Order: sequence, then structure tokens, then C-alpha cells
Amino acid sequence: MNTISATSAPTIPSLREARAFAGRKHRLFIGGNWVDPAEGQGFATSDPATGEKLGEIPRGSDVDVDRAVAAARKAMEDPAWRDMKPAQRARLMERLADAMESAMDELGVLESLDNGKSLRDARNFDLPHAIATVRYNAGWATKLTGETISLSGPGNWHAFTLKEPVGVVAQIVPWNAPLAMACAKIAPALAAGCAVILKPAEETSLTALRLAEIIAEIGFPDGVFNLITGYGEEVGAALTAHPGVDKVTFTGSTEVGRHILKAAAGNFKRVTLELGGKTPVIIMPDADVSKATMGAAMSIFANAGQICNAGSRLFVHERHFEEVVDGVAKIAEGIKLGGGLDPDTQMGPVISSAQRNRIHDYIDGGLADGASLRTGGKRLERTGNFVPPTVLTGTSAEMAVRREEIFGPVLCAMSFSEDDLDAIAAEANASDYGLGAVVWTSNLSAAHGLARKLKAGTVRVNGGGLDPALPFGGFKQSGWGRENGREGLEAYTETKSVAISY
Ligand code: NAP
Ligand code: MG
Repeated sequence: MNTISATSAPTIPSLREARAFAGRKHRLFIGGNWVDPAEGQGFATSDPATGEKLGEIPRGSDVDVDRAVAAARKAMEDPAWRDMKPAQRARLMERLADAMESAMDELGVLESLDNGKSLRDARNFDLPHAIATVRYNAGWATKLTGETISLSGPGNWHAFTLKEPVGVVAQIVPWNAPLAMACAKIAPALAAGCAVILKPAEETSLTALRLAEIIAEIGFPDGVFNLITGYGEEVGAALTAHPGVDKVTFTGSTEVGRHILKAAAGNFKRVTLELGGKTPVIIMPDADVSKATMGAAMSIFANAGQICNAGSRLFVHERHFEEVVDGVAKIAEGIKLGGGLDPDTQMGPVISSAQRNRIHDYIDGGLADGASLRTGGKRLERTGNFVPPTVLTGTSAEMAVRREEIFGPVLCAMSFSEDDLDAIAAEANASDYGLGAVVWTSNLSAAHGLARKLKAGTVRVNGGGLDPALPFGGFKQSGWGRENGREGLEAYTETKSVAISY
């Protein structure tokens, strides 16, 4: 298992360490100790490009969840954490970011092997974003403040608010950007002074295990960070139902989000949900067509479309429709599919054969419903969970392929003829989701007008991307609450009002 496979270039820095790490015996991290899962079981994790087994992941259970919740609760009462000065929390987090930076090569290779994404993407996006998120939130630890408030009742009052850590937080993350998602949750929670129990996705637990090892060396008090790997229906469900958990934050499917909301009702846990999306990309008549075409292609094909904010519905003004769709199709046809570690790879496999089948079912369903295939669409005869970048035209708003989150490299392209911003926005807003929207235009009024009319948590004009300072989250069925920015930090706090008569 620890040998370098013939298809992997042996010159990749840290490949040997990453494989050795993946293949060794793993444990859960609870209360500052590495422990075997109570039921002693494990399951395989594999490279989605080849099916090769990379290692064995511990299968946690409700017994382990009980242990982790007890450890986290203890940490919240422990003066070492409870009374730690904000500057010291910030220092620990900066140290964590430094240690991640030192381990960047290895973490990137691990992410690429386990998830299938290209090493280039892991290095250029996932790792820098994860580290930037830790640094950004480290800065907040010393800047978390309440306010003073003037009261109007009789007497003299000094009234103010305190921002206190919400307590023990369960954090459940998906497989599409495992480490970046984990850090988006861990970092603000630690900055706010919470204790964390992380549950990574079963398909991609390796970077979380390596991160736990790094955290263990940093010097956070025992129980502040805990890691339980395992299945969603077991560990995830036990965490969300647990009366000792004060808050649950989740990124993943809308369906599981609904389960979590119900489970959280038992003790009225605070809940933040980052769910699915069906992001519209709107290309206006005055857009820079070549930039917009490239942007539209990147938006749906990056990470093989496995991004909650992937631009899966493309609305192009009729003046440019043929040119843009042709351009996107040409880009799609030029994309090199391959294993994550191959330096030529532009798009890796999707995470699992189940996802591959699910994506093809959507494409086939769309075609059966009357859509036309512009490019891609066919099942590839090759090993690995590869899906060709696909462009469909001729879809209608009721079709599942146009309505539901596919989480794959599948674009539905539509043209519009109106110039009225309300009409354009209405079409883009015809979705149960409201995570993101992208507009390409050189007209300032269209940019501002659509930014206000689109029902989405994030509107980007003439570009894409993520920044830890910019709140991110969904309208409608795309979620509850926001991550990133001040709001993302405050989501890990309770506001306490204090009024003192004098
Ligand atoms: P998912 O089932 O929602 O998984 C996300 C996380 O939730 C994983 O850690 C999962 O554990 C856990 N989980 C599953 N069932 C749970 C439960 N009952 N209680 C608590 N936690 C639970 O997503 P998926 O199956 O990986 O992907 C399915 C679809 O979800 C995708 O096709 C896509 O449409 C959507 N998705 C969206 C995002 C996003 O960023 N918005 C990310 C991933 C997936 P396991 O890994 O053990 O299942
Ligand atoms: Mg895997």
C-alpha cells in the first residue's frame, strides 16, 4: 500500500510521506489523546482515479461521540481554555497556520490522492484558502467585542453586551474541498473560544487526520479540538442529536441539512447550514464575451463541478449565445481529464462511482426530457470515476437537470432576449436555491441593479472566487446563516446583555 505507483511521478515532493501517512494506522483524536474507536472498526479510503486503496479510516460510533462531547465540555470549563487571553488564542492559531504552511506539500498530495482533485488545484486553491482562513480568523480573536448601549428606562444604567463562545460545536464537512471546508469551520470556532468536534466526510478523512496531528503539536489545551471519523448516519447523526452539543455547523446536501435541523431541535442547538446551489451565471449584452466565456466554463468545470457554488445555469443574451456556448464547449473539449497527481491533469475524477452514476442519470434524464447535447454527456470507457465536461441546451425550467444540484461538470445553457433587469433576475431566481450568482457586464447600472435583484447569498460581477473576509451562505434552501467574515465568527458566539444600575 505504501509503494509509489507506476503512474505517479516519483518527483512529486512529499508523495512518499503522504502515502506513508495514508497507509498507517489511524486513530480518533479525543481529549488530546489518540484513541482507537470503541467498536474497533474501520473502512477503506481510496483514490477515485484508480480505485486503489490508500488507507483505513477509523469508524467512530456513538460511544466515541459521547467521549468527545465529554472531552469538549471539559475543555470549555478548563481555565486553560476558558480564561485564555485572546492574544494567546490568536498566537496558537497563527502557529497552526505556520505549521500547515510547512506541511503544505504533503497536505496537498493527500488531498489530491483522497479526493481526486488535481494537485495543482489542491496547491493553488484548497491549501492557500485553508491557511488564509486560519490566519484571517486568528486576527479576529483579539477583535471580538460587544457594544455599550444607552437605556431609556428610569435610573442610571451602564448596559453592554458580551460576545461569549457558544460552547461545544459539532462540525460536519463534505468531500469536495475537505481541508478548506474543515478550516472554514474550525478557525472561527477556535477564534471565538469554542471547543470543536470535527466529522470529515467518509470519502476524504485523510487531510483531517493529518490536520489533527498538526493541531496536537501546536499546544491547544486538551479537548479543544477533537476529531471523529466515520459515517454520517452514525457519527454525524449522533453528534447532531447529542444534548451536550451546543451548535452544529454543516456543509453538504440539502437533504442531510433537513435531517440535521430536525435532530438539532431536541436541545435547540444553534445551527449553521451551507447547503446546495444552482448558481446562475448571467452574460449581459455588454459583457466582455471572451472573459465571460472563460469565466462561465471555469465556474462549472472547476473541481469537476463539485462545488456548491458551481455556475450550473448559464443565461446568455441572445446576441452572444452561439458564440459563448461554442466557446464553452470548445473549452470543455480541451480539458485534460486525469489522475490528480498527473501534472497535465486539468480535471480529476468525481469522488465516487455512485456520484458518477448520479451525474450521468441527470444528463440522461435531461436528454430524455428533450434537452440537446452540445458536448460531453457520454459515459467514458476508462478506469476511474471520470465524467466528461458536458454542455446541454434546450432545457426548460421544470427539468430536473436544470432544477436540482447535480454536483458534477454539467452546464445548462439558455439564451434570453429581454433587456429588463427584473425579467432577467426573475428567470435566474426561479430556483429553490440561492447560494450564489455571477453577472458579466460592463454596464454599472446592470451590475448594481442585478446585484440587488438576485436572490443569492453572494453575487459576483465579472469574476469568481472566495475570500475568508466575505460572508458566504445561502438564501432559500441553500442554507441558514453565514460563514466567513465577522458574521462567520459571530455565528460561534452568544450575545449576553448586561445592565448595571448605578
Ligand atoms: P452529504 O451526505 O450531505 O454529506 C456531507 C456530510 O454530512 C458528510 O460528512 C456526511 O458523512 C455527513 N452526513 C451524512 N448523513 C448525515 C446525517 N444523517 N447526519 C449528520 N451528518 C450526516 O453529501 P454527500 O452524500 O457527500 O453528497 C451528496 C450530494 O450532496 C452531492 O451530490 C451534492 O449535491 C451535495 N453536496 C453539496 C455540498 C456543498 O458544498 N453544498 C458538498 C457535498 C455534497 P458521510 O461522508 O459519512 O456521508
Ligand atoms: Mg477517498
